[in-house]
Amino acid sequence: MTPIALDLDQVSFTYGDGPLLQAFNLRVRQGEFVSLVGASGSGKSTIFKLLTGLLKPQSGTIRIMGNPPAPGRVGYMPQADCLMPWRTALDNAAVGLEVQGVPRPRAREQARALWADFGLSGAEGRYPRELSGGMRQRVAFLRTVLGDHPVLLLDEPFGALDALTRAQMQQWLLDLWDRLNKTVLFITHDAEEAALLSDRVYVLRGQGVEVPINLPRPRRYGMVTEPALVERRESILREVGVC
Ligand code: ADP
Ligand code: MG
Repeated sequence: MTPIALDLDQVSFTYGDGPLLQAFNLRVRQGEFVSLVGASGSGKSTIFKLLTGLLKPQSGTIRIMGNPPAPGRVGYMPQADCLMPWRTALDNAAVGLEVQGVPRPRAREQARALWADFGLSGAEGRYPRELSGGMRQRVAFLRTVLGDHPVLLLDEPFGALDALTRAQMQQWLLDLWDRLNKTVLFITHDAEEAALLSDRVYVLRGQGVEVPINLPRPRRYGMVTEPALVERRESILREVGVC
């Protein structure tokens, strides 16, 4: 049996104004791609903050590869891309490694090694304001991947992109995912995106409901119009309460 990478067991959390999560359970096995889907305000980003250790649950247990949450134990890409406007794209990608103590020249070298794979060729010296939305997301994503964590938490990485760029980024992530060999927990409010990318989907509503996807890999963006994927999308929307 594949080991469990992320485990939330009977987790309850409140910011102080009524319960947000109550006896919530979530398990992600190593190598799985799992999405969290739910209405705005349902607690998706809060779950990531609990997994990173930024917040502590009032009760329940959280484990990352068998250990309690601690700084640096997961790769975390927050909802905003948080690029530093005064750093070039390359130096923004390298900053996570620098924070971990890697000297800047070596951090840059490691960023350069994946630069083309992330579709960023030619953009090394550009500042964030000179990058398209999709490129900014890829720089932020590269910064997260370079931390070399086996588990990545991605909070709505494509949420702010236009539909066309979003479709391109989904295809790009599917291709990259086949090679990365990481465990991913992915937040999205887009049921189609969740169905296309994931092995399983958790819908955050009440105690949480799991929707298995069970579609073969490799996947490609064109599958969004195929009946099997449309059916999964509808199952997710049904659990969200939309149809
Ligand atoms: P989601 O990511 O699903 O949109 P969040 O986890 O960001 O939801 O927020 C869940 C709920 O908790 C929302 O109602 C939000 O207003 C509230 N919330 C988020 N952060 C805080 C905070 N630091 N203090 C108080 N309430 C918060
Ligand atoms: Mg959020």
